Amino acid sequence: MGKTLSEKILSQKSGSDARAGDIVVAQVDLAFVQDGTGPLALRQLAESGIEGVADPKQVAFFLDHASPSPNRELSQDHALLRHFALKNGVQLWDIGEGVCHQLVVESYASPGEVIVGADSHTVTAGALAAFATGMGSTDVAIAIALGRTWLRVPESFRVVLRGKFKKGVYAKDLILHLIGKLGADGATYKALEFCGRGVTGMGMSERFTIANMAVEAGAKVGLFPADETTRAYLESRGRGERFRLLRPDPDANYEETIEVDLEGLEPTVSMPHAVDNIVLAKELKGEKVEQVFIGTCTNGRLEDLAVAARILKGKRRHPSVRLLVAPASRGVLMEAMAAGYVKDLLEAGAAILPPGCGPCVGIHQGVLGDGERCLSTANRNFRGRMGNPEGFIYLGSPATAAATAIAGEIIDPREMM
Ligand code: SF4
Repeated sequence: MGKTLSEKILSQKSGSDARAGDIVVAQVDLAFVQDGTGPLALRQLAESGIEGVADPKQVAFFLDHASPSPNRELSQDHALLRHFALKNGVQLWDIGEGVCHQLVVESYASPGEVIVGADSHTVTAGALAAFATGMGSTDVAIAIALGRTWLRVPESFRVVLRGKFKKGVYAKDLILHLIGKLGADGATYKALEFCGRGVTGMGMSERFTIANMAVEAGAKVGLFPADETTRAYLESRGRGERFRLLRPDPDANYEETIEVDLEGLEPTVSMPHAVDNIVLAKELKGEKVEQVFIGTCTNGRLEDLAVAARILKGKRRHPSVRLLVAPASRGVLMEAMAAGYVKDLLEAGAAILPPGCGPCVGIHQGVLGDGERCLSTANRNFRGRMGNPEGFIYLGSPATAAATAIAGEIIDPREMM
């Protein structure tokens, strides 16, 4: 019997014949924390009497969730992480560098690796065929200290993508559609493995968006095969030597197969307060919003800003809509400036935030008022996510977000393309 991508990667990293359901102890290529989860991980290490880290080159800290710090308590947490990093030679990505998951794919992840992060959207790096998964602070603390972790090898769902997106339809629409189909817990502790011609025609940015939201269906990991697109991306990031072809065996065992025809998809929106509460954007016409947010580890990449800038260029945000844009990393911001997207967005009335999580998690930089509605390109819309339980969050693609910012109400972006 052949192996799925998860079984292949975890076999190699554990030195065993890993099969779905097995418990393995695997070598970890990267263990990381962010500023929300890192302080707890460090306190757990201290309480356990563990000093130092297994290999500082395989550990990274990211100050992205509250970046820059909005209050004294978070400033103290930042100081704790900076101090530990300096003392132990750990790589620290300070405020303004970007969202941890974007920086991980830009600078670390490669096919066949095991990556654990104290943040659920660690799954983003599955787009590069890395077994990347989120864990609690304590588990990541142990991985930081030992360079290893234990995992139960997940069963896999095979998601076969056919065809191509039609104009105005994007990876975000696909993953919202898929989560709507599976349900928010429909793939709990499964691996979602994406394959088919639809994958071959997809760029890395689209793959990152899809892998990023695999966890919103409960998945442990969202994996793409490593192919020529992966190779080209790694070469562009200066680590082409770490590429290797990686795909599942043709006779691998899948618990379920799900087929999606990309040509049949339309701009899709997730409604408050559940990610699987999806409708087509055109069905929400007339639903007013007070805020639009373009950014996050889901849709804050150059390609996302390009789509938004193209729609907003030469137009203005609706006077009653605040438009916030947070590039996912410093590199994204610099490339967006060079390409003229930042100018287009500023001229359209956007407020450009520092690279980082921005208002996604409700700490600062765009907390909603009571009763306010936001169309966001993020990945979560549960009650209180953006800092106010009386706020309402709709999730959509950067195109839907940009078109909504102009219209002042949710619309199908194809009306403006
Ligand atoms: Fe989490 Fe949002 Fe930051 Fe992504 S951008 S890591 S979802 S807070």
